[in-house]
Amino acid sequence: MGEQIHEGGCYCGAVRYRVSGPPRRVGACCCRWCQRRTGSVLGLSVYFEASDFAYLQGELRHFGLTSGSGRSIETDFCPTCATTVGWTMEAEPGAKGIAGGTFDDPTLWQPQRFVFTRTKPGWLSACDAIPAYEALP
Ligand SMILES: [Zn+2]
Ligand SMILES: [Zn+2]
Repeated sequence: MGEQIHEGGCYCGAVRYRVSGPPRRVGACCCRWCQRRTGSVLGLSVYFEASDFAYLQGELRHFGLTSGSGRSIETDFCPTCATTVGWTMEAEPGAKGIAGGTFDDPTLWQPQRFVFTRTKPGWLSACDAIPAYEALP
């Protein structure tokens, strides 16, 4: 995959970042933290080498919490619009987690695994059977 550069940012644009190289891992996650930080039922977690990650602009605030597996996480969020842009996890040394939906192209990443399926709603597996529209009809 070689030199890949991808950029993204928070909702209001105050925080921008860039990552290079292929991700270490991409996961779909239904843990209660991902559900609460996104306000949705799943999060897309894209992990890069911490050294391949850089903020281009923005001052971030941090919040410390305990994950669903009892390890510590420090989140990085925009103080203006409160978007969680990324995080650092005790369970993932040397890596920077990026919230997949914050990339300028959020369709880039294909998860390799699903975690915390104990809180995954059953209807997610039935998505293809639900009527779908490219935008709101
Ligand atoms: Zn923002
Ligand atoms: Zn999660």
